[in-house]
Order: sequence, then C-alpha cells, then structure tokens
Amino acid sequence: MTTVEQFPQALSIAGSDSGGGAGMQADLKTIQERHVFATTVLVAVTAQNTLGVQDFMALPPKLIDEQFASLAADLSIKACKTGMLADVERVKAVVKNLKQYDFGPLTVDPVMIAKGGAPLLSDDAISTVREELLPLATIVTPNLPEAEALTGMHITTDAQMQEAAQKLQALGAKNVIVKGGHETNTASASDFVLLENGRSFWMTTSRFNTQNTHGTGDTLSACITAELAKGATIENAIRTGKAYVDATIKQGIKVGHGHGPLNHWA
Ligand code: PLP
Repeated sequence: MTTVEQFPQALSIAGSDSGGGAGMQADLKTIQERHVFATTVLVAVTAQNTLGVQDFMALPPKLIDEQFASLAADLSIKACKTGMLADVERVKAVVKNLKQYDFGPLTVDPVMIAKGGAPLLSDDAISTVREELLPLATIVTPNLPEAEALTGMHITTDAQMQEAAQKLQALGAKNVIVKGGHETNTASASDFVLLENGRSFWMTTSRFNTQNTHGTGDTLSACITAELAKGATIENAIRTGKAYVDATIKQGIKVGHGHGPLNHWA
C-alpha cells in the first residue's frame, strides 16, 4: 500500500482579532499565503478594529486543552507558534500542552501590548513566559519593548540589542530575533538575529512611512512558522519572514480608519 504524504500543516496558538488585521487572523492569512495548511488553538477573543481593542475575554483552560488534544489525535503538525496568551493561567495551559505533544519547532511571539496600548498579556505573566515558555522556544521574536520586559534591560543601542539577544538565548530560546522596528527615530528598521550555532547578523530595511503596520509581529512569526512546517532551515525561514513582512507593509491596503492591516497578497 502506498501512503500519501501529508500536506504541510502549521499551528497558531493565539488570540482572535475581530478586525482581521492581527492575531490569529493575521496568522491564518499568512500561513495560507505560504501554501501551508493552518490549524488553530484559540486562547482569547478580542473585540477589536483598526482603532484599538475594545474588549477581550480569555477561553477556559479546559477548552484550550481540548483543542490541543483534538489536533494531536488527528493532524500531522510540523511547526507551531504562540501569539497572544492573555495571562498566567493560559500561558501555563499552553506550556503544559506543548510539553505533552510534539508539534515541531516552536516560534514564540511574546505578544504583550497592542500598538494602540491595550495589554494582551497580564504583567504577572511576563515571568511565566520568561521561565516556562522561552525554554521551549526554537525561536523567539520580541520587539524592543518585549525584549526589555523579558530581559529587564533598557535598550537604546545596537550593542544593547545584541546583549538582549544573548540574554534571551541564555533564558532558553535557541534562536532569537530582536526586532528594531519600534525605534521610530531612525531611518532604517534593523532586526538583530542570533542563531543557535552562535552565528549572528543584522537584517536592515529602509523605514516605510505608513499607518498600515497592524499585525506585523504576528505576520513575521506566522511566516517563519509556515516556512519551518515546509522544512526550511531557521535562517531561511527568518529571511523569508522578513522579506514577506516588508512586502506586505509596502503595498498596504486601505481598511478601516486607524492602524490598517498588511496586504497579504503583496
Ligand atoms: N490583537 C491580537 C489578538 C494580537 O495577537 C496582536 C499582536 O500580536 C495584536 C492585537 C496587536 O497587533 P499590533 O500591535 O500589530 O497592532
């Protein structure tokens, strides 16, 4: 009997953005565009649009467990990512399930605060992410404020970005990208990458003046996850992710009246 090989499958463990620009919706659109089958574990639901987050509610940990169990019982997931995890209870639930099942390399996008200022992770959960989730991460993708919260550093220079990446690796994440895009006073946006084998490099793109940046972090981490599900090396997955996010930012589409979404057809 010949066995038909399974189509590449990836998993997004994240929160829903009703406005469709960030969160699980950005993950689904990205993974789909990368020709990978997307599956989901929904952790929280936000009432949200391009103007901000109006409300949110996290799902019961039991339902999180059941979503993981359903996927593990049937699908062949080759890579996974985390996004919005809401609070200590949900971070712990996700960690427990990630230890129980093998869903391939894990990309941790340590989502903390939305661009409009709404908290997507409670303050007391930052140490749980640091101590329990980072050690499971194949790659962690913080922006500057997230890297500061996880390392306790104040980051204003390139050298401090490099030091933060080393600290995050020492905390257990095998590979690290510290994203410099939040440093708005510079003409370019540079991300520092530190790989498991000690190799490191900068990825620099010219800054593009746009309001359409909602969901950039989700899109980068989802693209990396999709590439890993197809068997890409970490370095190639990261470089593809950066190029994909750049293209989706630069060819923005007009949706809503605030921080608009990326263009996933770019
Ligand atoms: N909403 C959800 C559910 C998210 O997961 C995220 C980011 O990960 C955001 C909103 C914030 O997106 P941004 O900061 O790009 O506006």
